[in-house]
Amino acid sequence: MGAFKPIEGHCQCGAVRYRVSEPADKVYHCHCSMCRRCHGTMFATYAVMPRKGFTILSGADNLSVFSSSATTHRKFCKTCGCQICIDVDTKPELIWYTPGTADGHPGHAKDRESHIYVESMTEWYDIHAKLPEHIEETTSPRRA
Ligand SMILES: [Zn+2]
Ligand SMILES: [Zn+2]
Repeated sequence: MGAFKPIEGHCQCGAVRYRVSEPADKVYHCHCSMCRRCHGTMFATYAVMPRKGFTILSGADNLSVFSSSATTHRKFCKTCGCQICIDVDTKPELIWYTPGTADGHPGHAKDRESHIYVESMTEWYDIHAKLPEHIEETTSPRRA
């Protein structure tokens, strides 16, 4: 991959906007029970990168913080509930942000992307399943 082109992201309602100016070192699909419950999803995806490359452009005062452990502080939009980033006290030089809210590629190398905390994965989720792909809901055509 060539030089990283900065990307921007925002929450669903648009109150919180951010810019990422450095590529992610790692991308994690985290199956831990805290991520599952904070996101309400089967797993949560985070890009990990140097904090100095992450800037909140607007809406910093619209972020709420929930500490899912003594050292893990999850920031989400007060209005729409969208998870934006995590501060981890033990690694203050890094930030974890949600690349699903960004408008571009986080810039990580594919071999730096992985599933973590897989022992906490819900028992019915099949990480290897090749499921049908539809363009919208299941009444829409399958993707070719
Ligand atoms: Zn929002
Ligand atoms: Zn997690």
